[in-house]
Amino acid sequence: MKNWLRFIALFAMSGLPLLAYAQDWKAVTHYDKTAIKKQLTDRFTRYVTFDTQSSETASSVPSTPGQIKLAKELVKELKKNGAKNVRLDKSGFVTAEIPANVATKAPTIAFFAHLDTALEASGKNVKPQVHTKYQGGDLVINSEKKLILNPTNAPQLLQGRGHDIITASGGTLLGADDKTGVAIIMTLVQFLYDNPSLEHAPIKIAFTPDEEIGTGIGHFNVPAFGANYAYTVDGGNLGEIINETFNAKSFTVVFEGNRAVHPGEALNSPFADNVLMASDFHTLLPRYKRPESTSGRKGFILVDSIQTQENRTEIKGIIRAFTDTEMDELVNDVKTAFNTVKAMNHKGTGFQLSFTDQYKNMNTVLPKQVVDMAVLAMQQEEITPTITAARGGTDGSQLSFKGLPTPDIFSGQFNIHSELEYADVDVMESSFRTLVRLATLWNLQEK
Ligand SMILES: [Zn+2]
Repeated sequence: MKNWLRFIALFAMSGLPLLAYAQDWKAVTHYDKTAIKKQLTDRFTRYVTFDTQSSETASSVPSTPGQIKLAKELVKELKKNGAKNVRLDKSGFVTAEIPANVATKAPTIAFFAHLDTALEASGKNVKPQVHTKYQGGDLVINSEKKLILNPTNAPQLLQGRGHDIITASGGTLLGADDKTGVAIIMTLVQFLYDNPSLEHAPIKIAFTPDEEIGTGIGHFNVPAFGANYAYTVDGGNLGEIINETFNAKSFTVVFEGNRAVHPGEALNSPFADNVLMASDFHTLLPRYKRPESTSGRKGFILVDSIQTQENRTEIKGIIRAFTDTEMDELVNDVKTAFNTVKAMNHKGTGFQLSFTDQYKNMNTVLPKQVVDMAVLAMQQEEITPTITAARGGTDGSQLSFKGLPTPDIFSGQFNIHSELEYADVDVMESSFRTLVRLATLWNLQEK
């Protein structure tokens, strides 16, 4: 069937007036791309100068005061751009809403980005550099430090020819994770304010603290926020939608022995070596199921720490798997290693093994519609969607289990958590268009 015929058939079936469709089809992309890229660049380069690195040693939420400083800045900007109900709570959550501008039965959709940056490199005195129209080859971040970005250490740069690329200047991370998301959402807020005739669903905005250390989102009040569906804007590649996360468990093993025997007299004594038990246990875990041996949809087992105090050795580790079947298998591997060590050490005085659930694959609770809408939005913007599984957890996974289905959408952040981190402004612009399209598409849905 010819394309235009298919459209007519589709709209005859759906009952939507064809004329409205014809007018709306490309309407939202009719804006000045250069102006939007400038807004994205200006905002992003401003936000990264706020040091919002989170801290694993603090017990407060937010873990660092810099996050509140950025939050306050965003509150000001949200108000200036007409957002309603703009709030900043004591934990550093910024929330706001943009009510629908037409009578609508549409569900309320939300966009999330996180305020904090990663811990792997300094977040202080970030000096962003904008490299306009990347022409391929080397991008020098810092010549003194020989910090150079190229397609070898950043393969996605191959898709970035002609794009504006933003890097730091050496010695710090950039903070593209997730200030790209913050800049994109703020640009959406201004765009909807500047274009009041663009009909959209009710929208909520949330900027959240302490994503990198995993302690922020647990404090978010999902029912009070009142959104039906949400998207985190916190991903990399053009077109990426993350609808799956690992299932995650941690485990603790304790071996107790008896080392209070003179080693010279250990033979035929009650001597039992808890350190040896721990190293045997570690060795017995299958090598081919370790993080560095697995990729894609394969899960893994990792021992994080082994600590000995006299007669007691405690081992802490994690298990990650996408399916319940694989999780059961990996749990079994841990049990087998543990039971083998136990059987080999009859003089051992104590053996314990326990598992704790950490988070679940959000795919099990995501309604198809929330992912389908992101796919459709991208297709209408001529972006090829790629549905991916994250080899980790996301804030969206916790939100989804609290009742707010939240897949993740790309935001143009690359080489994150390192001094080679960069943002691709043209990919950010595509993410921005996806959000605008989502805002209008959801308006055609009923709650
Ligand atoms: Zn992030």
